[in-house]
Amino acid sequence: MTKIWTLPEVDPKKCTACGLCAERCPEHALDVLPEQGLTFTRPENCTYCTACEDLCPEHAIRCGLEIVWGTA
Ligand code: SF4
Ligand code: SF4
Repeated sequence: MTKIWTLPEVDPKKCTACGLCAERCPEHALDVLPEQGLTFTRPENCTYCTACEDLCPEHAIRCGLEIVWGTA
């Protein structure tokens, strides 16, 4: 089976750049940068584990799209 996913989506209107998701991301895929705010600094690390979505107090980050295909 092959799985393909996009990066989690951040809603800039809701994100307060609190840094909680960056702190807790097990893969260190995110950082809060002084000018850009929340940024995927290591996007290739993201395993789409959904931890950031689960812990965000503002519901600002969402793992929305996952495409799975392959033989059953
Ligand atoms: S936890 Fe939520 S509000 Fe905080 S930086 Fe991450 S996405 Fe933004
Ligand atoms: S989905 Fe998981 S690995 Fe990807 S940024 Fe969020 S916490 Fe990190």
